[in-house]
Amino acid sequence: MRLVFILGDQLTRGISSLDGIDPARDVVLMVEVAAEATYVRHHKQKLVLILSAMRHFAEELRAEGIRVDYVRLDAPENRQDFCAELARAVARHLPEAVVVTHPGEWRVLQLMQGWSEALGLPVEIRDDDRFLCQPAEFARLTTAGKTGRMEYFYREMRRRTGLLMEGAKPVGGKWNYDAENRKALPRGHRAPKRKRFAPDAVTAEVMTLVETRFADHFGTLDQFGWPVTRTEALLALDDFLRVALPSFGDWQDAMQAGEDFLYHSLIAPALNIGLLTALEVAAAAEREYLEGRAPLNAVEGFIRQVIGWREFVRGIYWTEMPGYAQTNALNATRPLPSFYWTGDTRMRCIAEVVRGTRENAYAHHIQRLMVTGNFALLAGIAPAEIEAWYLAVYADAFEWVELPNVHGMVAHADGGRLGSKPYAAAAAYIGRMSDYCRGCGYDAKARTGRNACPMNFLYWNFLITHQARFGKNPRMALPYKALAAMGKGERAAITAEAEAFLAKMKTPEAEPPAQISMPW
Ligand SMILES: Cc1cc2nc3c(=O)[nH]c(=O)nc-3n(C[C@H](O)[C@H](O)[C@H](O)COP(=O)(O)OP(=O)(O)OC[C@H]3O[C@@H](n4cnc5c(N)ncnc54)[C@H](O)[C@@H]3O)c2cc1C
Ligand code: SF4
Repeated sequence: MRLVFILGDQLTRGISSLDGIDPARDVVLMVEVAAEATYVRHHKQKLVLILSAMRHFAEELRAEGIRVDYVRLDAPENRQDFCAELARAVARHLPEAVVVTHPGEWRVLQLMQGWSEALGLPVEIRDDDRFLCQPAEFARLTTAGKTGRMEYFYREMRRRTGLLMEGAKPVGGKWNYDAENRKALPRGHRAPKRKRFAPDAVTAEVMTLVETRFADHFGTLDQFGWPVTRTEALLALDDFLRVALPSFGDWQDAMQAGEDFLYHSLIAPALNIGLLTALEVAAAAEREYLEGRAPLNAVEGFIRQVIGWREFVRGIYWTEMPGYAQTNALNATRPLPSFYWTGDTRMRCIAEVVRGTRENAYAHHIQRLMVTGNFALLAGIAPAEIEAWYLAVYADAFEWVELPNVHGMVAHADGGRLGSKPYAAAAAYIGRMSDYCRGCGYDAKARTGRNACPMNFLYWNFLITHQARFGKNPRMALPYKALAAMGKGERAAITAEAEAFLAKMKTPEAEPPAQISMPW
């Protein structure tokens, strides 16, 4: 008899740990655990999503005749730690072996590797074959030459999957249509309404549990609408393909106040907990192009995110950890300002992204990268502080994908492993790609002066501070040329304004204590 331990982000019927399960003998173990003071305080919607999806998945396995031992968060005997819960389950079932799928977090893998000795049993850790590229293969592909960058890795994934390929050549003759995907939205544009899912009885019960037990966590539940079953996730995917994919490319980088989802897929939460797989969503998007319902720039752009970026950041995570998280190439040490939690700032771009994040546990890529991420980079927020925020506030946040995006792409803390230049921008970028600046109290055009936009003086201050590192980077030649053309007086004013602004920035009195640790 084997005990198959399924974690909260492994809710896939085809998960490798379920391969060869014998319903007559084997038992599936699933546990909901709250541990004190060990982890970030997850957004309430993220907790509801995972707990509800776990409960639904357990019922689906039971309906197939599989025995599931499910330990609820509020079970009196629950020891609220998933190693302790595994040990209790081993004592209950006396299995000959434990089977698990490779987890999504380095810390959890370390724990798993100690289970065999701790439990006195064989513990089989199987590859997570929902991903296209396993870590060892990633290391092989990216060590030599050009393939160390995402673009070349992505091409390899296209060849390997055959997605958007005509023999050995990319469909349409180009690998990448990104240049067509940077349009700003017309003024007042309204995106189509998206399919959301009203909570069923299981979700409603979990919502009550979360509201009671984690009342002081960030976020609201009023607009919870995430799919919590595979059936719902497939409906959400279908909705995206029909109403949003054709415009996904054009408006991929655009932002607009009050438009929280625009033409994005909203599938990351479902994808990351296992309700959908990367290959099936990429193949579904390809079908839309092949059958003439979506243009190539949109479909290629979407597929690049799913089989390119998503696989690439996972490869970086597993091949660079644990040292990766410890790097801090730009020596950023400032604490996270409190407006990341409250949204209480005159900077309209940040206030708007924090509002959407609080209401939906979601912000799209450019909001994460070029608004909250950009500010954190320019202000020199300590990587660990900003990482903890991203990990807590987004429904799709799991360390394997959150960490490289924040540590590498946003904070440039890895010294350029993920991106050859930092994603730093002044207000001109935000003004071009959104309507935020139009309704903002700051002057987006001013670099210095009483009402100058902080993104401006912080941007130039960032360039001044890190001139030794980036001054010779060919991809940053233009801004450094503009900096060189500035007078000494203006440079001094920029530095003074940036220092004064940063000194006044409020930080949370004390980081709220962590309360919950989930087994993902
Ligand atoms: C600072 C920062 C933090 C992020 N943290 C996370 C995170 O914790 N979890 C997460 O899944 N994504 C993260 N991303 C990537 C991306 O922003 C989200 O995947 C995306 O916003 C999710 O919304 P969507 O499903 O509507 O995506 P879409 O815009 O519709 O994109 C389609 C899919 O492509 C994949 N994808 C796109 N960009 C990336 C990327 N850079 N890395 C990995 N996958 C990508 C996702 O699976 C996404 O669902 C982060 C990006 C940044 C800049
Ligand atoms: S003016 Fe500056 S702070 Fe205001 S929305 Fe634009 S970029 Fe943000």
